[in-house]
Amino acid sequence: MAAAIKRILYVAHDHLNKNFGVLKDANKNTDAIVLVESARMLTGRPWHKERLFFLTSSARHFAYQLESDGYTVRYIKAPTTIDGLKIARKEFGNLEISCAEPSSHVQQKQLAEFGVQFVENDFFLTSRSLFNLWAEKQKTYVMENFYRAQRNRLGILVKDGKPEGGQWNFDADNRLPPPKNYDWPKYLEHQRDAIDLEVAKKFDHTATSTWATTRAGALAQLKNFIDNHLHGFGPYEDAIAKDNWALHHSLLSPYLNNGLLHASEVVAAAVAAYERGDATIGSVEAFVRQVIGWREYINGMYWYLGEDYKNLNGLGASRKLLPLYTDSTKTQMNCVKSVVADVEARSWVHHIPRLMVLSNLALTTGVNPQEFLNWMREQFIDASDWVMVPNVIGMAVHADGGKLMTKPYASGGAYLNRMTQHCKGCAYDPKKRVGDDACPFTTLYWDFLDRHKDEFVKNHRMSQQVNGLKRLSDLPELRERAKQVLAGLDAGTI
Ligand code: SF4
Repeated sequence: MAAAIKRILYVAHDHLNKNFGVLKDANKNTDAIVLVESARMLTGRPWHKERLFFLTSSARHFAYQLESDGYTVRYIKAPTTIDGLKIARKEFGNLEISCAEPSSHVQQKQLAEFGVQFVENDFFLTSRSLFNLWAEKQKTYVMENFYRAQRNRLGILVKDGKPEGGQWNFDADNRLPPPKNYDWPKYLEHQRDAIDLEVAKKFDHTATSTWATTRAGALAQLKNFIDNHLHGFGPYEDAIAKDNWALHHSLLSPYLNNGLLHASEVVAAAVAAYERGDATIGSVEAFVRQVIGWREYINGMYWYLGEDYKNLNGLGASRKLLPLYTDSTKTQMNCVKSVVADVEARSWVHHIPRLMVLSNLALTTGVNPQEFLNWMREQFIDASDWVMVPNVIGMAVHADGGKLMTKPYASGGAYLNRMTQHCKGCAYDPKKRVGDDACPFTTLYWDFLDRHKDEFVKNHRMSQQVNGLKRLSDLPELRERAKQVLAGLDAGTI
C-alpha cells in the first residue's frame, strides 16, 4: 500500500471536513491522510478539559471515519506537529506534504518552514486575498459595511439588490431582556461512545453531553437549532437568563471552528427555514450576520492585521488576571460568578456574557489584554487564535486604539440589570456607584471613563459618556470606592 502513496495530506484538528481544505480532492489510492495529536498542543497550556476532550475526540472520530471510508489514514501521536509529519515521511517516503492554510500565524510559519505546501483555506466563505481587497479600500473597518457587501456578494437574503424584509439589520428589535416563565426547548444531549470514553479518560475528565464529537452529531445540533431555536433566536440573543444557559443560541460555533460543519450549509439551512416561513427575518438575519458577517470579518481581520496585533495594549492595562476568572468562588458578584461557573462547566457561554460580563470586567478593571486573551483562548471550546485575537484585543478590551471598534464596550450595572436576571439577590446594588454595596460594574464604569477621559473625550462616540462625569457630585468618593473594588477583586473578596 505505502509504495503507491504519492502525497501526504496533513489535516489539522480544526479542518475536519472531507469536502473542504486539502481533502476535497483526496485520492484513496495515492494519498496518505495524516492527523497529528501533538503533545505540545495538548499540554502546553492550562486548557479547559472539555475543550481538550472535544477537539481530540472529534479528530479521532474523524480519522476513524476516513479509514472506514477506505482512505489510508495515520493518526500520529508525537511531541509536536512537525515531529508527527517527520514520522509520516519515515513511513511513506520524503513526499510532498500539503494542507489547508493553517488557522494561526504561528502554525503557518512552522509548517511553511518545514516545507509544507498550502491550499487555500475554504473553511470560510471569504478567502484571505478577497478580504484584503475589501480591507485595503476601507477608511475604517466597520463590520456592518463588510457584512452588507457579503450579503450582496453571496446573494444571501437579498432580492434585486435589496435586503429581505426591507432592512439590512434587525439588531434594534433583538435586544429583549430575558423572558419570565418561558418554556425553553430542551437541550440536545450527545451520547458518548468508546472513542469518547477513551479520550475523556486520557484527560482525566468526565465529559458532558453538551458537545458532539462527530459530523453526525454536529448535523443533529444544526437540525435542533433550525427546528427548535432559530425562530426565537433574534429577540433574546442579547439576554442572559438564570434558568437557561443556552437560550436560543445555536451552539454551532465549536463545529464551525473545527470543520465538522461548514458555514455554507449552516447559512443555507437558516435561509431555507426563512423561505419555508418557519423563522422570522429578524431571527434569520441576526443568525446569518453572525456567520457571514462577524465570523468572516474576524478571520479576515486576524490575517489582515498581522502577527503583532495580538501584542497591542493601547490603554496601558497592566492588572494581573483577576482570581475570579480561574475560580468562580472568588467573587460575590452574582453575574460574574454564574458566568464563570458556566465556563467551568461547559467551556462555553454565548457572546453576550463573554462581552457584557467577562470582557467588560477585564476592560474596566484594566486587566492586561494578553493575560485576558490567554485565558479566553484556553477556556473556550470554540477558541482559536484567529477567533480570539481580534475579538479580545479589538472588541473586548479595546487594546488596538479603535481599529476594530470605534469605542470601547463598557457598561455599568444598570444595563446588566436590564439584560440579566442576576441582580436580584446579588450582594451588590446595580443602581449604586458608591458605598459598600455599590455594584462593582457601576463603580468601575465611571472610574474607567475617569481614568481615560483625556483620550476618550477626543472620540466623538465617547464624548457624551465622558462628559457625564461632570454631573457626578460624588466623584471623589467614587474614586475611593473604585480603589477598594479593585483591591477586593485582586484579593478575590468582592
Ligand atoms: Fe452583577 Fe452588579 Fe447585578 Fe451584582 S448588581 S449581578 S455585580 S450587575
